[in-house]
Amino acid sequence: MPSRQFLSEQEEQQIVEAINTAEQKTSGEIRIHLEHHCEGDPLNRADQVFHNLGMDETKLQNGVLIYVATEDHKAAVYAGKGIHREVEEGFWDDVLQILISHFKQEEFEQGIEEAVHKVGNKLEELFPYHQKGDLDELSNEISFRDNKN
Ligand code: CA
Ligand code: CA
Repeated sequence: MPSRQFLSEQEEQQIVEAINTAEQKTSGEIRIHLEHHCEGDPLNRADQVFHNLGMDETKLQNGVLIYVATEDHKAAVYAGKGIHREVEEGFWDDVLQILISHFKQEEFEQGIEEAVHKVGNKLEELFPYHQKGDLDELSNEISFRDNKN
């Protein structure tokens, strides 16, 4: 039996759509990064990826990275300075719990989509989309390890 792909192409598309939708309501930027393995603490790795993807270069420092190591079943949510300090305590843990509880049921797509939704609503609240010239500063495509961007 072939091993189950983490996300089907259609599921990937659904997630990209969820990011598109979320970013229409906020100046914030959401990205998903998937890779197979993560040695050590996923939050440290997410920190690295955040910088590698240039997510620390958004104007308002309001990027949020959802990081998943698919084989190791590790996940982390990493937010830019502009948003990290603005949210109530426990918020990031709640997002992580959404991911983990769905992943336990092998509902990978739903887990990520719900997490995007929750983060999107928070970003909308803190960074509403009203600035003239608001840009899509970071691609909404899912980032995989070995991708150059
Ligand atoms: Ca934007
Ligand atoms: Ca974007």
